[in-house]
Amino acid sequence: MSKVKSSNLGYPRIGEKREWKQALEQFWSEKLSEEEFLKRIKKLRLSYLEKQKNSGIDLIPIGDFSLYDHILDTSVLFGLIPERFNHKNGAVSLDTYFSIARGKNDAVASEMTKWFNTNYHYIVPEINANTKPYITENRLLNLYLEAKKELNIDGKPVIVGPITLLKLSKGFEKEDFPNLLRSLIPLYIEVFTDLQTAGATWIQVDEPILSTTLEQEELSYFKETYEAFHQAVPNLNILLQTYFESVDHYQDVISLPVQGIGLDFVYDDGANLKSIKKYGFPEDKALAAGIVDGRNIWRTELDETLHQVNDLLNFIDQGRLWIQPSCSLQHVPVTVRQENELEPVLKNAISFADEKLKEVVTLVKGINEGHDTILDEIKQSKEAINVLNHSQHRNIDSVKEEIQSLGEDLPTRPLPFSQRQAIQEKKWQLPLLPTTTIGSLPQTKEIRSARQKWRKGEWTESQYEQFIDQNIEKWIKIQEDLDIDVLVHGEFERNDMVEYFGEKLRGFAFTRFAWVQSYGSRCVKPPIIFGDVDLESPMTVKESAYAQSLTNRPVKGMLTGPVTIYNWSFVRNDISQFDVKKQIALALKKEIHALEENNIRMIQVDEPAIREGLPLKEEKKRKYLHDAVYVFRLATVYVDNSTQIHTHMCYSEFDEIIDTIDQLDADVISIEAARSHGEMISTFEDHKYDKGIGLGVYDIHSPRTPSVEEIKTSIERALQVINPKLFWINPDCGLKTRKPNETIPALKNLVQATKEVRKKH
Ligand code: GLN
Ligand code: ZN
Repeated sequence: MSKVKSSNLGYPRIGEKREWKQALEQFWSEKLSEEEFLKRIKKLRLSYLEKQKNSGIDLIPIGDFSLYDHILDTSVLFGLIPERFNHKNGAVSLDTYFSIARGKNDAVASEMTKWFNTNYHYIVPEINANTKPYITENRLLNLYLEAKKELNIDGKPVIVGPITLLKLSKGFEKEDFPNLLRSLIPLYIEVFTDLQTAGATWIQVDEPILSTTLEQEELSYFKETYEAFHQAVPNLNILLQTYFESVDHYQDVISLPVQGIGLDFVYDDGANLKSIKKYGFPEDKALAAGIVDGRNIWRTELDETLHQVNDLLNFIDQGRLWIQPSCSLQHVPVTVRQENELEPVLKNAISFADEKLKEVVTLVKGINEGHDTILDEIKQSKEAINVLNHSQHRNIDSVKEEIQSLGEDLPTRPLPFSQRQAIQEKKWQLPLLPTTTIGSLPQTKEIRSARQKWRKGEWTESQYEQFIDQNIEKWIKIQEDLDIDVLVHGEFERNDMVEYFGEKLRGFAFTRFAWVQSYGSRCVKPPIIFGDVDLESPMTVKESAYAQSLTNRPVKGMLTGPVTIYNWSFVRNDISQFDVKKQIALALKKEIHALEENNIRMIQVDEPAIREGLPLKEEKKRKYLHDAVYVFRLATVYVDNSTQIHTHMCYSEFDEIIDTIDQLDADVISIEAARSHGEMISTFEDHKYDKGIGLGVYDIHSPRTPSVEEIKTSIERALQVINPKLFWINPDCGLKTRKPNETIPALKNLVQATKEVRKKH
């Protein structure tokens, strides 16, 4: 009988010890020659392929590896290179490639944005109606041949499909879409033809856009495109790959003339299997079944998963079934092996890229050679998960009881904003257009190195505390001298706005090497929320109270909100997302209470990540946003009427979530606006926002000092649509990445501009 195959969709680029990042950064800073750089990169690339081969994966992806970003690779392949980079036909130099990603002299970098609902960012392709795509160099063919020659791997080339590519691009009108698509189709065909000639049998074409909510018209593009492919390369097998969600138009998708369909059975809420049960699966196609979670880090319960596979085998025969992760493994760290500081009960229950590949291979073995051949593995996986589930970490009674006691209604402040406003005005006595900042102040080299010394034990706790206090004192004085109205303590004690809290809360774990790529060479090491979250003792009171003791002006307390903490972590999946968020919110509620008790009565709860966690499907967005509002309010509403709750979000596209923002019911919100003033203002024209609001009046991402005039113009523009009595003056975001000698002059001008505008109102 023919057998089930194992497959993979993509492998992490960064290396076990971030060797990839190091090579890139050394090359950029000219410590590595191009030749040396390419040699090192090739070695890494081949080692990843070899690892996959050795683990027993039948269909190994080729071309998922990248020097920066796989969308950029695809743009470059098709000559979609913005004019400002002056590229002439032919292969694209490394210099041009990295310039698109990072900017060069006058040519600003292309924009970058989030890849669906992950924390990975891709480089947005720039296309206009006149763009004439062409093939610069068939990199996919080169990589396919390389793997064959060097490792004897007959790989499965991977490319982002044309419809997803165009849907993620910017710079053209909707009506130009079909023409642009038609200019790309022959180029894809050319790439495919070369691959077919070189001997490739399967090619994976990623169209994750199929997992979003599409219009009927867009579906017809799929038909046109894939029919064209089929006619041109009838002997090349195309696997149409989707991930991150179910496909809404299952029947349309399975009738496309492709030879295989890749579906996500982990993040589809059961919808893909339901579709198969209802409509069957075509007899002439392979099914690539994503059943090992490709983007979270928990070990696969093999028994359950085998049941799932057997369920699928009722609808498709073994010879056409592939087992694979639910999406590219680029979203998880490389291997658990090196994590020797994790508690065994946790370490045993997690699985990163290498371990996930092993799970795929084990599952395949279980089906091909019989359940009995993998009994040990089944037992181990079940036990590991059981042990964690029954551990004290996941069974804190007080937390469980608190969650159970919560009602369904949105937690609500006793008085509506209009009435709180009067009380708060009286209490705070702030001038019109109060000035403030977003929280962090410059994190200088000295501050980072002090933290290192303390972490390494070279400095005692009290030495470090004293150092932090000195910085707080220095900057309270600076802010007073600048005549800022609402001060901050500066967040000098914090490395990162999630890690700082995670390290102090119960239920979080931190790894040593579990990095994932965020964008370019930038990697993040997300905390793991593995147990019940609880506050042991106050996290921020000491620094905030100290800062407040130094001044008569209000100092804002600074916290990170529940949704942001959730979205920037790897999170347990044995209880609902909503419950985890509620646990975090309850811990923050206690922290807020402690701040109030210590006379911190302006408290900012940052939620920069609400928008980026939005689900892909329209129907799921409502629940997500409801939950976000619920947990923000759960954390923030149980305060005195005179206590002023602030929040901050650093992005400017609000159309989709403006109602949510309103419902958070924060007394003051500060948002990014400097880089997109026009857009922002129109949002607020359409939607009357009647609580305190600060639209960032200058861009903190740039080192240049904004002039008084510029800031005044920003303020005046905003005041055309926003009531001056509600308007706050602040920079776009935190100032931690700026130097003191950039920050002080900028804030000086901000205060000066405010004073001049005040006179007119
Ligand atoms: N309070 C944080 C800071 O100022 C907010 C950071 C953010 O919005 N990402 O750094
Ligand atoms: Zn921000």
